[in-house]
Amino acid sequence: MSLVGKVVIVTGASSGIGASAAEAFAKEGSKVVLVGRNVENLKAAEAACRAANSKAELLSITADVAVDAERIINSTIERFGQLDVLVNNAGIFEVGGILDIDVDQFDRIFNTNVRAVFLLTKYAAPHLIKSQGNIVNVSSVTGIRAFPGISTYCASKAALDQFTRCIALDLAPHNVRVNSVNPGVIATDIHRRRGLTPEGIKEYYERCKKTHALGRIGEPSEVADAIIFFASDKSSFITAATLPIDGGKHAMCPR
Ligand code: NAP
Repeated sequence: MSLVGKVVIVTGASSGIGASAAEAFAKEGSKVVLVGRNVENLKAAEAACRAANSKAELLSITADVAVDAERIINSTIERFGQLDVLVNNAGIFEVGGILDIDVDQFDRIFNTNVRAVFLLTKYAAPHLIKSQGNIVNVSSVTGIRAFPGISTYCASKAALDQFTRCIALDLAPHNVRVNSVNPGVIATDIHRRRGLTPEGIKEYYERCKKTHALGRIGEPSEVADAIIFFASDKSSFITAATLPIDGGKHAMCPR
């Protein structure tokens, strides 16, 4: 599928990987629906899309994916009449060992990272069947490997990976593909949001040179490139795949 003129929803388009993906779709000539909660950041992401392609048709929806899934899909159909690609990217990250965290963290993380994806997928599926479109989920290396101190996030991304595979099988008879990208550490706002100071982020990124085989963290555009690949016909025979975009982190093992 050429991405020109295709209608693409990117959740969490107001920051990081989602903003970069939205810009990449705009560059490809897609009609992009940018979803996020922070209005100022959404405006900035929309401006970046416009700078990438002055003719891009854009729709920004201020929404919480955990409560507004149906509205997001309905607003897209009202505006563009169809849906070709759903990028489930919005996600939150919180840390803490099992002795310290409570069930509220579990509920917050699963509501956004898993339940919202279920709802968006459910409401989007009939439209994707009509358009013969596809879904790209943004998971994490934490979906395929275990790490200490981030059990709820790891479990949410592992659930998302299994959801990707199961929905790929549900929708395969309808010729709708479902894949996920599984990033390693990427330079976005997510590490500030989880409470790291600028100094802490610097130290963390420095440590990551040792945990990523390629010796560096990734850039949002490197994940966006893989999202574009899965959304396009270049991956026409790929479904139910979970692809690490992590500089080899998933293959590393401390010794
Ligand atoms: P980010 O810069 O913090 O961006 C997160 C995005 O998700 C923001 O646009 C945020 O929107 C949106 N979002 C979060 N909760 C939402 C909600 N309830 N409703 C609507 N939007 C919501 O983080 P990022 O790194 O780009 O993260 C994007 C995805 O990549 C996430 O799923 C994350 O788990 C995954 N990931 C990131 C890394 C990494 O190292 N960066 C690694 C692996 C996987 P607002 O700010 O407008 O609320």
